[in-house]
This record gives sequence, structure tokens and C-alpha cells, in this order.
Amino acid sequence: MKPFVFSTTAQIVFRAGASSEIGGLVRRKLGERVLFVTDPGLRKLGLCDPALSSLAAAGIEATVFDKVEADPSLATVQSATDAAKAGGATGVIGFGGGSSLDVAKLVALLCGSGEDIDGAWGVGNAKGPRLPLVLVPTTAGTGSEMTPVSIITVGGDEKRGVSSPIILPDIAVLDPDLTLALPAHITAATGIDAMVHAIEAYTSRSANNNPLSKMLARQALQLLGANIEKAVFDGKDREARGAMLLGSMLAGQAFANSPVAAVHALAYPIGGTFHIPHGLSNALVLPHVLRFNAPAAVAAYAEIAADAFPDLAPEQSSQERCAAFIDRLAALSASLGLQPRLRDVGISEEHLSGMARDAMKQTRLLINNPRDVNEADALSIYKAAW
Ligand SMILES: [Zn+2]
Repeated sequence: MKPFVFSTTAQIVFRAGASSEIGGLVRRKLGERVLFVTDPGLRKLGLCDPALSSLAAAGIEATVFDKVEADPSLATVQSATDAAKAGGATGVIGFGGGSSLDVAKLVALLCGSGEDIDGAWGVGNAKGPRLPLVLVPTTAGTGSEMTPVSIITVGGDEKRGVSSPIILPDIAVLDPDLTLALPAHITAATGIDAMVHAIEAYTSRSANNNPLSKMLARQALQLLGANIEKAVFDGKDREARGAMLLGSMLAGQAFANSPVAAVHALAYPIGGTFHIPHGLSNALVLPHVLRFNAPAAVAAYAEIAADAFPDLAPEQSSQERCAAFIDRLAALSASLGLQPRLRDVGISEEHLSGMARDAMKQTRLLINNPRDVNEADALSIYKAAW
């Protein structure tokens, strides 16, 4: 049997309304003073209020840091870390989308160990220990509550990451009610992102791809495939919201241990240069990367096709099921209202060659792809997506 290592969050609490009881859930783990990391939008919506009241009721003093932006900067990490130190934080709560969770991970690390961020970038370089950490996702997509990674923007557009099991949280609190008010276009884009995590984890050529990740990826695709349209078209459907949050978490567990590949590699230049949200960037290239991969991944795509779309007939050949799977993913994005082509999001044709060059820099992702991708391949994928 192939050896592997599987790391994940130690405790998962999944319950509608759990965030309004968070004080009791985290008191013993986080201690008496926490830094509560979130973004200004959630704060204004009042989504944090039940959690903050619950912390107060449990005798936990919370300092709120609500300045996390999309694609959070190193300056934000630093001022949140300063706020945690000034408040004498004994623990950290990250509450929000992937950005707030990523910032909270690094605040816990930097406050707990006193180490310098410059020594922590990269894989396995964080020293720790970190402060106790609880993450509460409010979108169903990034799976950040299950991943050992934090991505931060340094300087202009450069992104750097810290990847280490040390920054996996102690507890993930999954409360589907927090996602009830998510707008349809965010539900759609983040939901497709979660599906991509599952697909790329399942087919990852990573040496650490493993039976647990594969099992989780399939279960994730079943939940996400059956519920994404319901959650987009009726945001108040609590069952569907719960299934999406759970599916996103399972996909996060899968790809945290069997990393993603060329869909993400080709999505990064779209997000980085044109500031297109991560989920939409993935959706734009998804069918085209999968079509490129098909010669090397036909059996794997045929295996998971009916997980996402149960009506895809098993009596079809693998070839036919694989092709139908890719077509259905493209049709799904369109039916959810996501723009189908790169030109629809303001990218002109002359940008494509620069994007292909940029995508080649994502070597840590490209090595996981089921089929080798060179710059000319990336360019023809972008042209097909344009
Ligand atoms: Zn993603």
C-alpha cells in the first residue's frame, strides 16, 4: 500500500445555530480573552452579534478586529496581530469567508510563537506553537477551516502562503444559518469552487493522494451536486445550505491532503490580474482544463461523474460519461448565472499569452495535474475559455 499522511482539524461542530452558542463551545479551549477576526461587511450585517453575545455570556472578553479585506494584505495580518497582543489574547476566533480565516490562522501563529512571518512562508516552515484557534466559516466554498494554508497578499499583487499543519484550527464551528443571507452569485461561485476542490483532490497526482481524500471528495461531490442549485435559487433552504457547508468542508479535508491542480493554477492569473473572485475564476476555466485533462483522467472523471450528477447513466462507456460530466459542469455554471467566458468578465484576447506565462509559475499546483501542462497548452485552454 502507498504511504500517506492525513492531517485535519481536531474537532468539528456542525449544528444550525451553533455560532450563537459559541461561548460554551470554545471557553475551555480559548481561555478568557480572544481576538475575534472578521470583515467589515459581516460586522455591519450584524452576523457576528449572536456569537459576540454568547462569548460575553460565557465570560470571554472579545476584542473585535473587523478590518479584513478580500485578498488580505500582510499589513492587515500585522495590525490584527498587534490588536491580539494589546488585548492579551489567550485565543483567536476567525469568523467569515476564507480571508478572515486565513488572517486568524496567522495571528494565532505569530502571537503564539513570536516568530517572524518572513521565516514562516512556504511549506513546513512555521515553527509554532500557535495560540488556540477556532474557525467559523460563513461561506461554503474555501474549506479554509480544514486546510493548513493561509494565503496573504504581500506588496502589490504578489501572493505568498504559509502551509503547515500547525495552523489547522483546534475547532471548526459549522453553522449553516450563517450562510442563509449569502447572495446567489456568491453561493454559486463559492459552491463551484468547492466542487473543483473535490474534483482536483480526487484526480490529484500528488504522492500524498490517499483513500481518505478520495472518499471525502466523492461524498463532497454528492452533497454539492445535489444542493448547489437549491441553495442558489432559494437561499433560505436550510437543508441545502447545510449540505453545501458540509460538502465544502469535506472537499477542504480532501484537498488539504491531496492538493489541487491546473484548474486552480490557471484560475490564479485571472483572480490576481483582473480581480475576479476565486470561485468565478475557477468556473471560467473548469470545463476547458477538464477537457484538456480527459485523455489522462477519463477513468477518474467517469468514476465521479454520477456523484455530482446521479442521472448520468452507468451503462454509458467511460469515455461518454467523462464527456457528459464535463459538459454538465459547464451547463451547471451557466444555469447558476456565472459568466461563461473570459471575455464576459472584461479580459481581452491579447491578455491570454501573459496569463499563460503567469500560470506556469504555479508549479506547486501544476505538478498535481493528471496531465502535464506547458505554456502552449495553457494558452490553448485560455483561448478555448475566451
Ligand atoms: Zn479554490
